[in-house]
Amino acid sequence: MDGNGFKKDDRPRSGGSREGRERGGGGGGMGDERGGGRGFGRRKVCRYCADKSLKVDYKNAAELKYFVTERGKIVPRRISGNCARHQREVATAIKRSRNVALLPYTVMQHT
Ligand SMILES: [Zn+2]
Repeated sequence: MDGNGFKKDDRPRSGGSREGRERGGGGGGMGDERGGGRGFGRRKVCRYCADKSLKVDYKNAAELKYFVTERGKIVPRRISGNCARHQREVATAIKRSRNVALLPYTVMQHT
């Protein structure tokens, strides 16, 4: 509109830019993933609620191990099936358990 002859001309000089049509027809990568029934039947309540006698105890590493991955991470609640309250307690217990070296912080990963 201003007419000052300012043409926007910023095309790259190299001819070899390959910005051709890159997004072709997608092959439909992510469909809906349905959880394959892979063991681990879902519990409806957390095991601590289910079993009143079972208490979250940081000394009970055998029990806590269910809530730690192989790499030493705490399993998220939707996988562990714990209720919010017990998941918290378990997380606390795991941290405490790490402190006393019953559980690893992480498993050593070698480069
Ligand atoms: Zn619970």
